[in-house]
Amino acid sequence: MLAKALAGATIGLHGVLVTVEVDVAGRGFPTFTIVGLPNKSVDESKERVRTALTNTGYEMPDSRITVNMAPADVPKSGSAFDLAIAIGILAASGVISQSALENKMFLGELSLEGNVRKINGIVPLILLAQEEKIPEVIIPKENAEEASIFEDMIIYPVSNLQELIDHLLGRTLIQKFTSVSTCVDEEHLFFQHDFSQIKGQEQAKRALEIAAAGFHNIHLKGTPGAGKTLLSRSMPSILPRLEKQEMLEVAKIYSVVGELSDETFHGIRPFRSPHHTTSRVGLIGGGSTPMPGEISMAHRGVLFLDEFPEFPRNVLEAMRQPLEDGVVTVSRAAGTLTFPARFLLLAASNPCPCGYLGHPKKTCKCAPGMIMRYKKRLSGPLLDRIDLHIDVPPVEVDELSDEYQSESSKAVRSRVKKARNIQEKRFSADIHLFNSEMSSSDIKKYCVLSDDAQKMLKTAVERLALSARSYFKTIKVARTIADLEGFKEIESAHVAEALQYRAKEW
Ligand SMILES: [Zn+2]
Repeated sequence: MLAKALAGATIGLHGVLVTVEVDVAGRGFPTFTIVGLPNKSVDESKERVRTALTNTGYEMPDSRITVNMAPADVPKSGSAFDLAIAIGILAASGVISQSALENKMFLGELSLEGNVRKINGIVPLILLAQEEKIPEVIIPKENAEEASIFEDMIIYPVSNLQELIDHLLGRTLIQKFTSVSTCVDEEHLFFQHDFSQIKGQEQAKRALEIAAAGFHNIHLKGTPGAGKTLLSRSMPSILPRLEKQEMLEVAKIYSVVGELSDETFHGIRPFRSPHHTTSRVGLIGGGSTPMPGEISMAHRGVLFLDEFPEFPRNVLEAMRQPLEDGVVTVSRAAGTLTFPARFLLLAASNPCPCGYLGHPKKTCKCAPGMIMRYKKRLSGPLLDRIDLHIDVPPVEVDELSDEYQSESSKAVRSRVKKARNIQEKRFSADIHLFNSEMSSSDIKKYCVLSDDAQKMLKTAVERLALSARSYFKTIKVARTIADLEGFKEIESAHVAEALQYRAKEW
């Protein structure tokens, strides 16, 4: 008898439909063949399916069993097909009717005892079922939370094979998954690091607020101990929350990597801080089975690169294209693959290798040649992709009075949120979300400068010899500053502040 069960595979972040056909034919020498899977996975899958069935109380039929996975050209790695294969065998041998398998997708790995184990990539696979109009999806119970994002799909989380068989036979039905609204309200959001923990550094905080509001890349430069790291780690606490569409994009990436957590469903933007020794593949993405790198894990969130000049030059240069396009292309055996990578780059640097160049009290011990070489590690085109540059000087804590109160991140976040709402209205007809994503034609359309502001910008272009790129960058930053203050037109004060953040000498 022939049976069919639907499953899915992921290629990059996309789900591909896989049909598992099982044929159980005649008596004679029992065999078990799987075609359409890579060799190594076949053997492992056969073993798991066979043992899981036996341990659930179903002997493998005493016949020739052939399992075909179609289409053949889809690379199927991993173990997500176990469940579909096992159910297919049971249907082909008459234990379950084929009709019970219709309109369903089966996803899950089997353990030898017959338990259904967690798999990676549940989000793109449910999305696939949605696109293919397959109304019901059977998923491992351990993956259930990942289904929270889908409101109109029928999802059955299962913990073991027996449970699923009982469900398909109509004996005991499994409860449909209903997502418990996990959304935390604004009041109860908690972040490990908060602006209120940082004394002083008002200028740097202001620059971070602008970066968060317009999703601008930012570079902090300062001596060790000035608080660059703490400031940077507080960034998630002032970012606006993820919109629904952004949440789905982030969830897909984290689901494929197997690291999806509640935080994403609470709208918390990703914050990634890879060390400068992280490999190129680790940062950019790729590998034999291409996986997203740190720049994609930071999609719609922050990529924090501490000790920015210490990252290998080739890695930094490989980031230039994604910084421009918001996607990264990685190569694989059959062609190329793209992953989203629209992140906010938050870079922090010491001014020189020893760190004390320009320090008011300590002296720099670096030879001039060393400083030159150090600074050359960051190329002009890379620095050009950063909208805000800010010095973070050491703070004399004694200078701050005891009554000094730092503003909380919550207060900053509410201003950022307002600026974000203005942008949402502005770009409702476009695909953009933030000011930093504006093209030069968008700038003409959305950035009206007052007469004074125009004059100021013109003078700056002449006196500071601003490049075309710097010119547009200044307007984008000024647009965000004006949004934070609630101004429709960009005034000269906004341009003046934006000019302060341009790249001076690095
Ligand atoms: Zn030095």
